[in-house]
Amino acid sequence: MVGGFHLRGREIYLVIRMEYLFDRWGEVERALAPGALLLLDYDGTLTPIVERPELAILSPDMKELLKRVSQHYTLGIISGRSLTGVQELVGLEGIYYAGNHGFEISGPGVDLIKSEAERVRPTLVKLCEELRAKLGNIKGAIVEDKGSTASVHYRLVAEGEFERLRNIFEEVVEPQIKSGVLRVTRGKKVFEIRPNVEWDKGKAVLWLSSVVNPKGELTPVYIGDDRTDEDAFSALKEMGVTILVSEEPVESNAKYFVKNVDGVKIFFEKLINLRTQIGTGSR
Ligand SMILES: [Mg+2]
Repeated sequence: MVGGFHLRGREIYLVIRMEYLFDRWGEVERALAPGALLLLDYDGTLTPIVERPELAILSPDMKELLKRVSQHYTLGIISGRSLTGVQELVGLEGIYYAGNHGFEISGPGVDLIKSEAERVRPTLVKLCEELRAKLGNIKGAIVEDKGSTASVHYRLVAEGEFERLRNIFEEVVEPQIKSGVLRVTRGKKVFEIRPNVEWDKGKAVLWLSSVVNPKGELTPVYIGDDRTDEDAFSALKEMGVTILVSEEPVESNAKYFVKNVDGVKIFFEKLINLRTQIGTGSR
């Protein structure tokens, strides 16, 4: 899909190649025929975005679907949450989990903690303390220490207070950014602080894929909804099926989109059908 439009008298062409997943089901089905390695983000992908991170509970029907999907496909959950946090929320055994944007990965035969993540731990602890103290009087600011990374959530912060929050945040993290120890990325109403190394969801999914799918016979599928997922979309662009959760097609490295968490559910149902209705014709 290629579209162009006028903006303030200057012609700007937006080139959007993203396709609605279910419009291209035939090609997706063909790509997945050899089998799939399913790699899924958690927040905004398996659960709707909520006001506070602890409210993002997996619905019983999504949990059941994931369980059934995991019986037919190799499954990994790749989250910005802590490893134990995402393991507890999903609660399925025998699947792969990557926490802290892939700095910690665990699953059958796999245990990885990036050494850089351990090294920045004392710095991160101090930083979180300082952020908590200085952001304490901004209502709704949530500082989350996740072990290898940290988050400052501001979804509940009043709009008029955001500027103040950002200034304090920048002032606190600046020394560690300048010295090259940490870096900051942004997600949906959240600042993420992480070790300043070349490691992200993209590197993590390639690593996981090389370990659990060394011969590359499974087609990697990645589904995510946020900026940090773009690294995974880029990494898997050529070899995989990449799906953004977004109400509208937008500029993204993903090839396909579904509109919301319900779209993700429909995709899972179709995946299960591919495996359970072989020989009875495809839907
Ligand atoms: Mg997400």
